[in-house]
Amino acid sequence: MGNNVNRQILLVEKPTGKLGPEHFRLVEAAMPEPKDGEALLRVRYISLDAANRAWMHGATYRAALENNAVMAGGSVAEVVSSNAPGFAPGDLVFSDTGWQDYAVLPGKHLAKLPHVEPMTHLLSVYGIAGLTAYFGLLDIGRPQNGETVVVSAAAGSVGSIVGQIAKIKGCRTVGIAGGAEKCRWLTAHLGFDAAIDYKQGAIFKTLREAAPKGVDVYFDNVGGDILEACLPQMNVRGRIVCCGAISQYDGAPSATGPRGVPGLIVVKRLLMQGFIVTDYFGKRDKAFADLGTWLKDGKLKVEEDVIDGLENTPAALIGLLAGENRGKRMVKV
Ligand code: NDP
Repeated sequence: MGNNVNRQILLVEKPTGKLGPEHFRLVEAAMPEPKDGEALLRVRYISLDAANRAWMHGATYRAALENNAVMAGGSVAEVVSSNAPGFAPGDLVFSDTGWQDYAVLPGKHLAKLPHVEPMTHLLSVYGIAGLTAYFGLLDIGRPQNGETVVVSAAAGSVGSIVGQIAKIKGCRTVGIAGGAEKCRWLTAHLGFDAAIDYKQGAIFKTLREAAPKGVDVYFDNVGGDILEACLPQMNVRGRIVCCGAISQYDGAPSATGPRGVPGLIVVKRLLMQGFIVTDYFGKRDKAFADLGTWLKDGKLKVEEDVIDGLENTPAALIGLLAGENRGKRMVKV
């Protein structure tokens, strides 16, 4: 990389079907310069998120992505120079820098981060993934000792932490993931009580065997058929945490599942609630304290999947949607 060059990955065209490498292009731009109130950032680790794909469908909790603009994405970055009050060279920040080597952003769009070892923990356990798992499960799921908690995309960044917190809270924990190897890892390494390989089909039947007393909390990361299989197995006053719907992100929305929702919700007095993790940022110190304690006590294992090189970011996202990752996937720039 030359000194005055900023490599950027553009989203050249929003996909109408499956996301592919043809939707991105690597370009070289001039180094940006910070104006008044702005800081120049060097991107260190880019967070790969299922949501990156969902943003391509249009406006959500954030503005719609534009064609031929730098692909949006959160990252941990280091302040190189600053005209933004409160930020100095060497500071670490979380922000939506997008997929590039350097970015210029106003100070009000930067969240200062502590220096922790390893730095990657700022995107996994102490990042969006950890906070999403923590608040979604504890605030909406409210798991009680002895209850059964089921989580989908269980070997992913959010799901792997959800299952372990459920275990810490004394629950029977069932993970749903793709492939025998991921399922083995969930039970043998992360301490899940059971794991279901949804790619084998027959999800309803295998879930019944894995959760013989029914499901008290279903932490839903995927929507679709898996949500449909979980719904009838919910216990009275069960809680469904609607965290995401990855089965619907990569392509046109499917017409399948879940059917029969309203009647079941009434009869079983279910709570079904969505959330966006930023709703909870004001309470994050409590989450950091608990997550840190569990980590230190060896009750929480953090799995990270670090891919090297900005140029590999498109393939890393495409691979995440295909289930290549175990734990938190990110790109080291
Ligand atoms: P993950 O690390 O969980 O990776 C995504 C995983 O999803 C893949 O590894 C894959 O694993 C699984 N998957 C892909 N397609 C399907 C499918 N069709 N059916 C079932 N599983 C599938 O990614 P994230 O942590 O980024 O995201 C997890 C979920 O959390 C997403 O739904 C995301 O939108 C949500 N989220 C929500 C937030 C909020 O504020 N509400 C904040 C952050 C994330 P496998 O091999 O098992 O298929």
